[in-house]
Amino acid sequence: MKRILVMATGGTIASTPAEGGLAPSLTGEELLRGVPQVAEMCELDYVQPMNIDSTNMRPADWMRMCDGIAERYDDYDGFVILHGTDTMAYTAAALSYLIQESPKPIVLTGSQQPMANPFTDAKLNVFQSVLWATDEASHDVSVVFGGNVIRGTRARKQRTMSFNAFTSVNCPPLAVIRGDRIVRAESAHPIIGTPTLYDRLDERVIVLKLTPGLNPRDLRLLEDGYDAVILETFGMGGVPSYEDSSFERAIFDWVDSGRFVVMTTQVPEEGVDLGVYQVGRPYADHPGILRGGDMTTEALVAKTMWALGQTHDPDEVARLFYRPVNADRTDL
Ligand code: ASP
Repeated sequence: MKRILVMATGGTIASTPAEGGLAPSLTGEELLRGVPQVAEMCELDYVQPMNIDSTNMRPADWMRMCDGIAERYDDYDGFVILHGTDTMAYTAAALSYLIQESPKPIVLTGSQQPMANPFTDAKLNVFQSVLWATDEASHDVSVVFGGNVIRGTRARKQRTMSFNAFTSVNCPPLAVIRGDRIVRAESAHPIIGTPTLYDRLDERVIVLKLTPGLNPRDLRLLEDGYDAVILETFGMGGVPSYEDSSFERAIFDWVDSGRFVVMTTQVPEEGVDLGVYQVGRPYADHPGILRGGDMTTEALVAKTMWALGQTHDPDEVARLFYRPVNADRTDL
C-alpha cells in the first residue's frame, strides 16, 4: 500500500463557525475521518505545520511546508496538502519552484464549503486528491479541485463560491477526475531520480496593476522596499507613452538601479507579447526587464521570489526566470 503524508494547514475545509466568522479549527486527522474511503486506499500520516486562513499565508509558511516535505520525502510516496483556497495558487506555484522535478506527487486541495457543511465539496476534493497522489503516473506539484487536476504553476482561483473554483490558465488541465476515474489529457512521463530543492526566496517582490492615469512616480515610491516589481500592463503589454516619457524613465531607472521589472498583463488569459504595439516595444529587449509570457501572476510572484532568492546577477536571474518549471510557460 502507498504511503501518503497529509499536511493540513487550515482554510475553509478545516473551518467551523467562530465568533466573528468562519475560522480554521479542525486538524488534518479530524478532516480525513470525514472521508473514510481514503484509509482503504493508502497508509496515512499527518502533520499540521499551521492551522490558518490562507489569507494569512506568507512566504515563510511556504518554506515551512517545503521543509516539512523535504524532511519526510523519502518516507512517503506522495503528499496531500490541505490548504485554504484564497492563496492556494500562490502556494502551489511557490512549491513548484522550491521542489522541482519531483518524481512524487505533491497535491494541494481544499474546499469552498467546510467539511462539516452537509453540502460540502470537501469530501470529493480530498478523495480525488488522494486518488491522484496514489496514482503511479502522478508527479510534481498540482492542484486537485472540483474534478480538475491543474499544474501548480497554472492554477488560479477564478470563482469565490462555485465548486469549480480553480481554472488552469493558458494551459489545459493535466487531467479531469470523474468520480474515481482519472482521465489524463496526455500520457504521463514519469520523472526518475530525486527532486531539486531550494531553500531561499527573496520576498521583496510586489505586483503593480496599471490603471488609466496612474502616476509613474508611484513606481519610484516602491524603490526602497522592493527588488522587483511585476507590472500588470494593459493588453498584450501596453505601458503609457506620455509626451514626457515619464513611464519609460521610471521603468528604466528602476532596472538601471539593479532592480528587476517583470512585464505581464492584467488580461486574464493568453499572456503578453511586448513586440506588437508601439506602447510595449521599448520594453521587449531590455536587460533587467523580464517578459512574463503566458505565465500567471501567481506563478510570476513565486518564480521571481525564487530566482532572486538564488542570485541578483541579471544574466543568472534571466537564465533562471526563462527556464520552464512545471510547464509554467509555453511561449518560449
Ligand atoms: N478564506 C479561506 C482560505 O483561503 C477560503 C477557502 O479556503 O476557501 O483560507
